[in-house]
Amino acid sequence: MPDQDRTRPTDLPDAPVIVWFRADLRLRDNGALSAAAASGRPVIALFVLDETGASGRPPGGAQRWWLHHSLTALGSALGGIGLTLILRRGDPRAVLDDIINRTGAQSVVWNRRYGPEAIALDSEIKASLADRGLTVKSFAGALMHEPTKLKTGSGGYYKVYSPFWRAFIGEGEPRRPDPAPGTATAYDGTIESDDLADWDLLPTGPDWSGGIAATWTPGEKGAHERLKAFCADALADYGRKRDLPGVDGTSRLSPHLAFGEITPSDIWYAAAAAEGVAKKQLEKFHKELAWREFSYHLLVNFPDLRTANFNDTFDAFPWEGSEDALEAWHKGRTGYPIVDAGMRQLWQTGWMHNRVRMITASFLIKHLMIDWRRGEDWFWDTLVDGDPASNAASWQWVAGSGADAAPYFRIFNPILQGEKFDPDGAYVRRFVPELSDLPDKYIHKPWEAPRKVLEKAKVSLGSTYPEPMVEHKRARERALDAYNEMRGQAA
Ligand SMILES: Cc1cc2nc3c(=O)[nH]c(=O)nc-3n(C[C@H](O)[C@H](O)[C@H](O)COP(=O)(O)OP(=O)(O)OC[C@H]3O[C@@H](n4cnc5c(N)ncnc54)[C@H](O)[C@@H]3O)c2cc1C
Repeated sequence: MPDQDRTRPTDLPDAPVIVWFRADLRLRDNGALSAAAASGRPVIALFVLDETGASGRPPGGAQRWWLHHSLTALGSALGGIGLTLILRRGDPRAVLDDIINRTGAQSVVWNRRYGPEAIALDSEIKASLADRGLTVKSFAGALMHEPTKLKTGSGGYYKVYSPFWRAFIGEGEPRRPDPAPGTATAYDGTIESDDLADWDLLPTGPDWSGGIAATWTPGEKGAHERLKAFCADALADYGRKRDLPGVDGTSRLSPHLAFGEITPSDIWYAAAAAEGVAKKQLEKFHKELAWREFSYHLLVNFPDLRTANFNDTFDAFPWEGSEDALEAWHKGRTGYPIVDAGMRQLWQTGWMHNRVRMITASFLIKHLMIDWRRGEDWFWDTLVDGDPASNAASWQWVAGSGADAAPYFRIFNPILQGEKFDPDGAYVRRFVPELSDLPDKYIHKPWEAPRKVLEKAKVSLGSTYPEPMVEHKRARERALDAYNEMRGQAA
């Protein structure tokens, strides 16, 4: 009997269960998949590419590249336990209806996601399927503690990280990760699936993904290999090296987390079990993982985090940057080496070191006076780890408009930041190779180098490398004037 002719049986023990994969492209510690496998029912593994916006902001260019490879990896891992990954494009409501009608599925399971649009859509789908007699179950996994669970003494939510961290720790140990199911019963009917290649997730004309492909191994296996290497090689010195962009001192697990190829619980416990790691280093790392949780805590309680100033005093901020200035920032041609190195690292590899994210974001907002939302957009399009909570929360943090934010008037000096965190210029030399022959003394301020030094290093300012597009001291004064003007309006 062809699939489409099947009428939906009610409550048959062999009615299939749909595992709807979203931002959880893994087998291990996957509550939804484990429950489906354990049910003994035939399992339909489904991923829906939703470009309608119903599930939230569609992935940016760099994440489309990642998604292609992550789905390939997931498909083959599912094959290992006897399942086939069904790929569909469209509105998830219509796709689920279609598959339910064709297969007689009686239940749908998924792992929860926390973007505001996704929460609304999932609630709607859950209610509508339940009304029709289907069983819907959702599972935790993307976070260590549910973001709405932590409450202040007065029942509100945390706006400052330190008390959040205390509450987080007070909640007890995070959930222990589950192993991957060893096997599952596959649904034996035919279900139409798209061809991944037809989704055009990979860039063509031009293909800009070479540097990204050389840097990353998307997929669950790549995530666990990275975690293992980090725990063995870098965790013990994390507190000291995590701020040095020229050194491989952080985990680089962020894109794997963004796609749910690994869970924070898994990372938490693997780090805790690593040998030779002092308590202080471990706590520093655990605290960073908790910043991600704090960002979600903020997003869930303030759903407009990406679009609206958390502190609405900033609604009156007199942004004034130009499109040309934005373009120079995008391209890493601001004339400030540490800023340019960061923006080029982002473009070439789809990732930027955290310290440099702060420097480049501050430069856009305060030196160029461009609205933080323009920067957040660019990061979303170019980061492989673009995250609805961490990106918005971090941009607002730098802008000074966010919860527990850096005060606006603390303006990063890109020269001093470079000298402090990239003292030998290793990072700048790697991503701004036209400056690589400059001595350390001038690597973060080539305009101060004597003519002879520039000539010897084959640097011609304004030609091989730009002059600084704004002068730091003047830019700082202009930013502070704007801040005072905003405060004057708010008073
Ligand atoms: C302007 C700006 C934009 C950012 N946008 C994103 C984003 O879109 N996606 C994203 O995952 N992170 C974002 N971050 C946070 C941080 O830069 C990255 O999480 C971190 O650089 C990822 O590298 P890692 O995995 O090596 O981090 P590690 O130092 O190894 O930390 C481990 C994990 O902890 C979490 N974490 C660490 N620092 C932070 C932080 N400050 N805020 C929230 N979580 C953190 C991440 O999940 C990270 O993978 C942004 C920061 C800034 C300043």
